[in-house]
Amino acid sequence: MTVTLDRNVEEFIATPRQLFINGQWSDAASGKTFETPDPATGETLARVAEGDAEDINRAVTAARKAFEEGPWSRMTPSDRGRIVWKIGDLILEHTDELAQLESLDNGKPFVVAQAADIPLAADLFHYMAGWATKIEGNSIDISVPYMPGANFHAYTRREAIGVVGQIIPWNFPLLMAAWKLGPALAAGCTVVLKPAEQTPLTALRLAELIAEAGVPDGVVNVVPGYGETAGAALAAHPDVDKVAFTGSTEVGKLIVQAAGATNLKKLTLELGGKSPNIVFADADAAAVEGAANAIFFNHGQCCVAGSRLFVQQSRFDEVVDGVSEIAKSLKIGSGMDPTTQMGPLVSAEQLSRVTGFLESGKADGATAVTGGGRFGDKGYFVEPTVLTNTTPDMKVVREEIFGPVVVAAPFSDLGEIAAVANDTEYGLGAGIWTRDIGKAHAMAKKLRAGTVWINCYNVFDASLPFGGYKQSGWGREMGHEVLNNYTEVKSVVAQL
Ligand code: ADP
Repeated sequence: MTVTLDRNVEEFIATPRQLFINGQWSDAASGKTFETPDPATGETLARVAEGDAEDINRAVTAARKAFEEGPWSRMTPSDRGRIVWKIGDLILEHTDELAQLESLDNGKPFVVAQAADIPLAADLFHYMAGWATKIEGNSIDISVPYMPGANFHAYTRREAIGVVGQIIPWNFPLLMAAWKLGPALAAGCTVVLKPAEQTPLTALRLAELIAEAGVPDGVVNVVPGYGETAGAALAAHPDVDKVAFTGSTEVGKLIVQAAGATNLKKLTLELGGKSPNIVFADADAAAVEGAANAIFFNHGQCCVAGSRLFVQQSRFDEVVDGVSEIAKSLKIGSGMDPTTQMGPLVSAEQLSRVTGFLESGKADGATAVTGGGRFGDKGYFVEPTVLTNTTPDMKVVREEIFGPVVVAAPFSDLGEIAAVANDTEYGLGAGIWTRDIGKAHAMAKKLRAGTVWINCYNVFDASLPFGGYKQSGWGREMGHEVLNNYTEVKSVVAQL
C-alpha cells in the first residue's frame, strides 16, 4: 500500500531544485548539484543545487541589504506579524503535500509527518506571529551615585540582532526550519538558512510559501549544500551577526571555533543528547508504551530520545519485556505506506553508524533482548533494539546513537538514581514515570536537563522553551525565551 503522490510533489521532485537567494531561484555559482536519495530504496529522489562559500556570500549580502535598507526593516511589527501568521496558514493549506515531501526525503512515515511535523511547524509560525508586536524594552529609574542631583530618563530597547545564519539537521527538516525562521522573522531579522544535505526539499518548498506569504526579497534565503562547505562558510562569515545551529555536539564545537576565529557572532546551539527515562516501581502501566515511544519515535533520530531507560528493580523485567514486545510489533517499511510505523534511517551513513554501535554493544557484552541489526537488505532500515546487561562505561551507554536503540538498566537505590541519570555529558531531556507527585517534582528539580517530562515524553509546544544543559547546547528555542536570542538589548540614557 502506498499514498497517492500529490501532483505538486511529483512536479517538485521531477525538476532539479535551485537555491533561493534574494527572492530569486538560481543555480549554484559552481554549477554543481547533489542528489538527495529516497532512504527507503537508496535511489535518487531529486537533484538539488549545491551551494558553497560563494553562494553563501551572495545570500548574506542579500540578507544584509534586506536588513539595512529593505521594506522589511521599515515594516510595522503588526504587518510583520501578519506575514508570519500567513506562513503558518500556507503550511496548513499544503499539509499533505509537505508531509509527502518530508516522508520521501527523510523516510519518516507520511502519517506522522501529516499529524505532527507539519501542524507543529504551522503552529510555531502562528505562535511567533503574535510576538512580533510584543517585543518590548523597559523604562528604568536609575540612581547613578556619582552624579548626585542629576535627572535621567533611561530605557531599554530590544532590537533585531541582524543577519542570522541558520544551520539545521535532517531529523525534522521542516519543523527545524520553522523553529529557526519563526522567531527570526517575528524579531525582524533577515536569514540565510542552510538545510541538511540529506533533506533539503521541504525547506525549498517552504521558501516558495514564504515568498507567497509576502516576505520581501532577501529576508529569507535558502542555500542547500554540504556542512563542510556551505555550513562552514555561513558559520565563519564575517557579516553574519548570529548563527543558530541544531545538530551534533561535534559540529556545534566547530561552529563555536568558527565564530571565535572570525567576528564573535552570537550563537545558539541545540546539540546532542543521551536522555534518561526513569520508571519508578509505582509507575502506571502507561510507562511501558511511554518508554517505547520515547526511544522509537522518529526511529530514535531525536536529539531528545529517551535512550537510557532506568527501571526500578521490581518492574524491570515487565517494562523491558513490554518495550521489547512493542519493538517487535512495529511495522517497518516505506514512510509512504500509510500502515508503516517505523521507516528507514535517513541515510546510508546513519545506517552504518547505528549498526556500528550495535556491533560495539555486542562486542562489549550487552544483550539484545530484541533487534540488534539491520532490517532487510534494501534501504536504510534498522531493527528497533533493546539492549540490557550494559555497564555505564560502554559506548552504547555514553554516546548518542541517534537510532532506535535503547539501553535498559535496573536501579534499586532511590537516593542515587538522579546522579546516575545525570551521569552524562548531555542534558537535553529526561522522563520520569511515577504516581507519586512529590517524588516526581523532587526528581524534576534534580535532573540536569532542559526539559523534564512527567508521565509523558516527547511533548513539545511552540510556547515551551526547549534546549540543553551541559554539552546539549546554548540558549533556548521556542517560547518567548527564544526571542532573547534574536534580539540585542540597547540601554538608552537621556539626561533631562
Ligand atoms: P548529523 O551528524 O546528525 O548529520 P551534523 O551536526 O553533522 O549532524 O549536521 C547538522 C547540520 O550541520 C547539517 O545542516 C550539516 O550540513 C551542518 N554541518 C555539518 N558540518 C558542518 C560544519 N563543519 N560547519 C557548519 N555546518 C556543518
